[in-house]
Amino acid sequence: MYNPNNPELKSWVEVPEGSDFPIQNLPFGVFKTEYLEAGAGIAIGDYVLDLVFIQEHGYLDGLGLPNGIFNQPFLNDFIGLGRSKTSEVRTKISQLLEENCGDLRDNKADKTLALIPMEEVEMLLPIQVRDYTDFYSSEQHAFNVGSMFRDPKNALMPNWKHIPVGYHGRASSIIASGTPITRPNGQTKEDNQDSPVFGPTKRLDFELEMAFITCKSNELGEAITIDNAEDYIFGMVLFNDWSARDIQKWEYVPLGPFLAKNFASSISPWIVTLDALEPFRIPGPQQDPEVLDYLKYEGDKNFDINLDVFIEPDGAEETKVSSSNFKFMYWNIAQQLAHHTVNGCNINVGDMYGSGTISGETPDSYGSMLELAWKGTKPLKMSDGSERKFILDNDTVIMRGYGEKNGVRVGFGEVKTKVKPAKQ
Ligand code: MN
Repeated sequence: MYNPNNPELKSWVEVPEGSDFPIQNLPFGVFKTEYLEAGAGIAIGDYVLDLVFIQEHGYLDGLGLPNGIFNQPFLNDFIGLGRSKTSEVRTKISQLLEENCGDLRDNKADKTLALIPMEEVEMLLPIQVRDYTDFYSSEQHAFNVGSMFRDPKNALMPNWKHIPVGYHGRASSIIASGTPITRPNGQTKEDNQDSPVFGPTKRLDFELEMAFITCKSNELGEAITIDNAEDYIFGMVLFNDWSARDIQKWEYVPLGPFLAKNFASSISPWIVTLDALEPFRIPGPQQDPEVLDYLKYEGDKNFDINLDVFIEPDGAEETKVSSSNFKFMYWNIAQQLAHHTVNGCNINVGDMYGSGTISGETPDSYGSMLELAWKGTKPLKMSDGSERKFILDNDTVIMRGYGEKNGVRVGFGEVKTKVKPAKQ
């Protein structure tokens, strides 16, 4: 049977060395151009394959896809077809782009219209996100934050190794890579101040996360079991969960983060399918103490995905500030979704779930400035000689991620966001 993840596959479309988008990836996104309205595409090398064109010209006939399924500003309807159907589409596209298939390769007119150079497209938010949940599933991150704000002996709360801790975030402010953010204003109170003050956050931070997107709903009152959880997950993106640490510190007791987090979360525009991530599965950490039955799982549910963060000061070269990995997650995505719904909470097509900040064990693998510069006590040096404790105005934060195995690199591209000064 044809295996779209076969490392031997090659495409007749040129894929440059080190590209995130070989034929083994085929991530889905939404793009527009000067001439084309928003519609679905697939990344291959330095090109976007226009799925609207491909469907309209009969290349997907026989798959039983609804007319116009790609001719929409969001992928919700498409991913809502379910994983077996969306997998079929990915496989069909793989066959079409495979080096020995002449159907599109030898049709010069169609080929020219179907493949659009990436520099000619604008990538848009691929999903209309209805609900957004953020977890807190990296042990090192929870330990670091607990050490800073409580003490290292009691860094993890007593529930942390029993519950994939999370909270409900704000879906309306999830934005695509390339959309600038504005430094938020808010209330802060330093320890040496008697009363709060209003103004721009002085501790703007990123959170290095990944997020998964659900493609199937459950009935209110019905839990999704851990064995079925991955059937509900279409794929993943890079996720920068912007945070204002001083606002967070003042507001978060007793109900958790609010305005410190809801002003923006940036995502990478290409959704890498769970299918494409199959080769990168690895065992997760040993969970001790033993988890409750509904959180017990079989098989490898963690993924080996390298994650890097860069800061680009205005007019200067980018500097790498962190190298982490998605494999450091204590709680995996199946456990997160099983826990999320164990009380009967209903989830929907197009919901998004952040992993929580992903920190590795070494100080150069932490996933936020709060940890990397350790509350401002260890500033990071930029390529232009300047220092950063947190993110400054006109800085651009870039996150990149990829898995690499058997000579195949499956990547996420990047999520890149510039910070504009606060509104006066
Ligand atoms: Mn977060």
